[in-house]
Amino acid sequence: MSYLIIRPLIQAALARLAHEAAPAECCGLLLGKGQEVLEYRLLPNVAANPTAAFAVEPNALLGCLRYADSKGYDLLASFHSHPGAPPHPSSSDVAAVRKEGSLPIQVIVGLRGPSTLLQAWQITASDVEPLPIADGINDLTPSFYAPLTTAQRWALIVSGVVCAALLLAISFSLLPPAPTIPLPR
Ligand SMILES: [Zn+2]
Repeated sequence: MSYLIIRPLIQAALARLAHEAAPAECCGLLLGKGQEVLEYRLLPNVAANPTAAFAVEPNALLGCLRYADSKGYDLLASFHSHPGAPPHPSSSDVAAVRKEGSLPIQVIVGLRGPSTLLQAWQITASDVEPLPIADGINDLTPSFYAPLTTAQRWALIVSGVVCAALLLAISFSLLPPAPTIPLPR
């Protein structure tokens, strides 16, 4: 998967859940189809120290998996919050994927700092890479994330300059002729 679509309403709901659970971590699953998250399911955090870790309650997890199955949803990602830290996977988050077989895509809500940050990560056996989140409203396709080529950059600059020059030329051509100023006798 090259990116994840999470619509603004769901992004806002995940941020709200994180704030409501703080100072504990909240956790759950993101369900959907293809690359788009269509539903989030909050699951109880039964970690011994829920302010520093999360562990999903097994029965709730099972219920959630059955629900996803009944709706024909894919399990796209897990989510959890970092009440006092940025949204970067901790060593235990990475270990959960590599050793315990949790979902390889994690969405983390970071509450440290002035704004709430939502970040998705793809964790493989050798890498931990950020996964772009699209909001599903703007036309964000993978090419959106590709840097512009030099030719595209020049095309943008040249078209900008030509537009500005045309605008100036048209404005000047529309100016009325200068009035004659009567000379004092
Ligand atoms: Zn974490």
